Amino acid sequence: MTAYNLTEETKSVAAAIITPKKEKHSLKTVDAKLTSRDVGNIIQIPLEFQFEKEGDYLIEFTLIGTKEKLLIPLRIATHEWPKFSRRDLEFLRATTAIPKAIRVNIECVKCRSAYLFEHSPLPEHELAPNTKPFPKSGTFECENCEHHLNLKDLQGQLLFALISAIKQQKGATK
Ligand SMILES: [Zn+2]
Repeated sequence: MTAYNLTEETKSVAAAIITPKKEKHSLKTVDAKLTSRDVGNIIQIPLEFQFEKEGDYLIEFTLIGTKEKLLIPLRIATHEWPKFSRRDLEFLRATTAIPKAIRVNIECVKCRSAYLFEHSPLPEHELAPNTKPFPKSGTFECENCEHHLNLKDLQGQLLFALISAIKQQKGATK
C-alpha cells in the first residue's frame, strides 16, 4: 500500500483479513516510516493467510493511533481439482499434440535455488531426468534453505490448462 502525508514520527500499520463470516484475522503489523515528503510512502505488508473458503473477503489496514482505516475487497474463488477421465487419459496417450506432463521451473523466493517439477496424470509416466514430482502435501521444502514453497495452486492451474487442451483437441479431431 502507499501512504501519503505521513509525519516525522513512525507509525504502525496493522493489517487484517476479514472473512466472509466477518471473522477478523490479524496479520503482521509493520512500521510506516517517512521516507519521502514528495511522493507516497510504499509500505509492504506480506499477506500470509491461507484462504480456505471462497467468498468475499476484506483486507483491512489500520494506521495505529489514528482513525484511518482502509478496506480493500478481495474475492476468492476456488476451482475444482481437475479430474481426468479414462477417455481423457486415452486421448492423452495417443496424441502428439499435447505434452504428456506439466512441468514448471520454480525458484525459491528466499535463496534462489531452482527446481524443476513435473507431473503427469498418466499413471505409467516416468519423470524426466532432473525433475522432481510435485509434493503430495502441496508444500515443498527448499533443500537448501528449508523455506516452504506452496505449489498446490500452481499444479492445479497447470493441470486445468492440460485438461482444457485435451478437451479442445478432442473437439477438433471429431
Ligand atoms: Zn531456498
